[in-house]
Amino acid sequence: PKPDLRWKRVLLKVSGEALMGDQGFGIDTRTLDRIADEVAQAVAIGARIGLVVGGGNFVRGARIAAGGVNRVAGDHMGMLATVMNCLALHDALTRRGVDARVVSALTVPAVCDTFTQRGAQEHMDAGRVVLFAGGTGNPFFTTDSGAALRAAEMGCDALLKGTNVDGVYSADPKRDPNAVRYERLTHQEVLARDLAVMDAAAIALARDNAIPVIVFSIQQPGAFIEVLCGRGRATIVDG
Ligand code: UDP
Repeated sequence: PKPDLRWKRVLLKVSGEALMGDQGFGIDTRTLDRIADEVAQAVAIGARIGLVVGGGNFVRGARIAAGGVNRVAGDHMGMLATVMNCLALHDALTRRGVDARVVSALTVPAVCDTFTQRGAQEHMDAGRVVLFAGGTGNPFFTTDSGAALRAAEMGCDALLKGTNVDGVYSADPKRDPNAVRYERLTHQEVLARDLAVMDAAAIALARDNAIPVIVFSIQQPGAFIEVLCGRGRATIVDG
């Protein structure tokens, strides 16, 4: 029997870092394959999935700018990194027989389609997995903001943020032994306490469009499906 989905139409944000696995850079194919397996499993139980993939495993604009490169150029490089990650994930999904499309806000017509809201909505309605590359398509933004934007545009029930930690903590759990993990928070609490969930622009957009944000560890095998079914270890940001 298929498990009951708590969230049927979701935007899954996968950070570039999550694709690195234990490596310091780039894509770990074992991690890529496992994430693709879980997305395929989610599709098989009836979930409609949009994916926004980060690029931090290759390039972050702010980091590049700190090294002396123009910030806008650095951000363009970062957006191109998200295209690379989407192509890799698309390939892994296609190998599993999942019907998926890469659509990019930063146009790279030789390798993928260009994002349009209408086209992407049609893909999602037809049950295809849509990989949103290029973040928002603009410098000075992040893929978290891109994820909140696409979640709103695609009419998603929830924005699932898959990271390397299993929720939102009061402090960095790797550094502070007294850090506590939250089960539930409101968007407003995240903003007021400046909690490290997503950047403020992304949280504000989710809040204004009443989209719950669920933070969970994509490194934990099976966690994505658990979260889709309304279970599992996660922090829910809502209301
Ligand atoms: N980026 C951008 N505009 C966007 C999304 C991303 O300029 O709308 C650039 C930015 O330089 C960012 C990089 O792409 O540092 C990679 O994205 P992000 O840092 O969000 O990736 P993640 O941390 O999720 O791996």
